[in-house]
Amino acid sequence: MSKVTIIGGGVSGLAAGIYAQLSGLESEIFESHTVIGGQCTSWKRKGFHIDNCVHWMTGTSPKKEIYQVWEDVGVVGDGCKMISHDYFLQVDIDGIKGHAWRDLDKMEAELLSVAPEDKKVIHKLIKAIRDFQNIELPALKPKEQMGFWDNMKLLWKMRKAIPVAVKYGKMNIGDLAQMFQSPIIRQIIYNYVPETYFAISTLYMYAMFAAGNADLPLGGSDSITLKMRDRYLQLGGKISTKKKALSIDIEGSRCKSVNFEDGTTAEVENLICATDISVTFKLIGDKYMDDHFRFCYANPDKFPVFSDLDIYYAVDVPTDDIPTMEIFNCEPYTVAGRDCKTIIVNNFADQPGFAPEGKGIIEVLVVQYDYQYEYWEKLYADREAYRAEKMRIAQEVLQRLEKHYPQYRGKLSVIEAVTPKSFNRYTGAYKGSYMGFIQTHLVKKETHPGVLPGLDNFYLAGQWLQTPGGLPNALVTGRFAIQRLMKRENILQQFCCKKNTFLSKK
Ligand SMILES: Cc1cc2nc3c(=O)[nH]c(=O)nc-3n(C[C@H](O)[C@H](O)[C@H](O)COP(=O)(O)OP(=O)(O)OC[C@H]3O[C@@H](n4cnc5c(N)ncnc54)[C@H](O)[C@@H]3O)c2cc1C
Repeated sequence: MSKVTIIGGGVSGLAAGIYAQLSGLESEIFESHTVIGGQCTSWKRKGFHIDNCVHWMTGTSPKKEIYQVWEDVGVVGDGCKMISHDYFLQVDIDGIKGHAWRDLDKMEAELLSVAPEDKKVIHKLIKAIRDFQNIELPALKPKEQMGFWDNMKLLWKMRKAIPVAVKYGKMNIGDLAQMFQSPIIRQIIYNYVPETYFAISTLYMYAMFAAGNADLPLGGSDSITLKMRDRYLQLGGKISTKKKALSIDIEGSRCKSVNFEDGTTAEVENLICATDISVTFKLIGDKYMDDHFRFCYANPDKFPVFSDLDIYYAVDVPTDDIPTMEIFNCEPYTVAGRDCKTIIVNNFADQPGFAPEGKGIIEVLVVQYDYQYEYWEKLYADREAYRAEKMRIAQEVLQRLEKHYPQYRGKLSVIEAVTPKSFNRYTGAYKGSYMGFIQTHLVKKETHPGVLPGLDNFYLAGQWLQTPGGLPNALVTGRFAIQRLMKRENILQQFCCKKNTFLSKK
């Protein structure tokens, strides 16, 4: 039986492990942290559940390819409950509200009533979202293994989405937002992502939501990673935590062994690195970096990375009258040298058990650009100053929350603040990035081939391989890594999953 060693127990590493087991390979996952899950994580603080990842998960519609992959790894399907909201977010600018509704007719009608002056562009926007519902993230085979008919099938499925991709592919979110006069519609387009994201990402979000292909797993991030962990263990996989890889021994074109911080070594037959890509190149050495990643690192304007400052507030009473996700404008406040004029609130009221009985928990997200990472990193050198600054921002935000939600005055308290430096410390994330390189509208969208020149038994998995990262991309790259390995090693893919998606007769 062939063996595969997987470094990194995030969603991509777990997916690779599950597909390795499904394919009859023997596998082991080595994770540096005490728990698996990577960026898809949560923890307890003062009796509250801090969910520091999933706000939405794509792939929840059985009509989409990716659903089959989530089903294979045990995250959707029988016994897995999803929370389906009616709207993705509510925007409130000076008391006037607008929503990104799941029902596009309702969204169009509301936007027209809020901003009749934008009538023409509203129609175009809604049509673009409608047509974009046909977009498909190829999830069953890596690009190079797709044959003529696979490509034809994909093109046919996406026939309505392609013209939208061509039309809006050259714009960033800022460009798209500027087509509207209404500040409410502009904010709906900006959503909670940076304005330099490519415009298609907003269309994609709302299209997936409208298509019933984006929901929230009941139980949040834990329900994703714990189900994947259980599935992997049930299939006979092995997980070793507190195993930080420090280096990989390479002889000729083959990885021979992995050396861990605890002084142990694991011999390697096939190796999948499912760590943050910056960690991967530390382990194997920069000389194996290919042109794609060299270009990304050398051109941060074209391939920026982003992160978040996430602040969590305990609420003394239930938070039923705070929207699920809301963005409102406020007095400016400064974070890491940048003025913020909005507050983005995420309410966990519909996740049972996230707050003690009779209480609530909300999160405020503040987007952080890559230049702001340096600020947090420097500040972290002085822990007192770092903690004090987090608290200062948290208190400033709290004042604005109390102004916007006066019924909660005196009932909010800060329980946690997570910075880009935190993501870096816990998962090794490059500049604290939570989505990998963001391909802007300035470059052609490409997926990485998942292997590196000069290494024969080495495969990549993880959010950095496919834009714009996130859980679905992490998931499919784990599957693709095993498909690439099987192909290269000329092994018959033995296992037939529920829907036959992984069977390949060579
Ligand atoms: C705040 C936040 C909100 C998010 N919200 C969403 C969302 O709503 N929807 C969505 O789709 N995505 C979301 N994401 C993104 C999503 O969580 C990530 O894209 C995904 O989890 C990445 O998985 P991965 O396996 O590629 O990488 P990671 O999760 O980074 O996994 C890499 C693993 O490797 C381990 N590791 C690192 N170095 C070593 C080493 N030397 N030795 C051994 N192990 C090592 C790490 O500890 C980690 O467990 C969010 C992320 C964050 C942080």
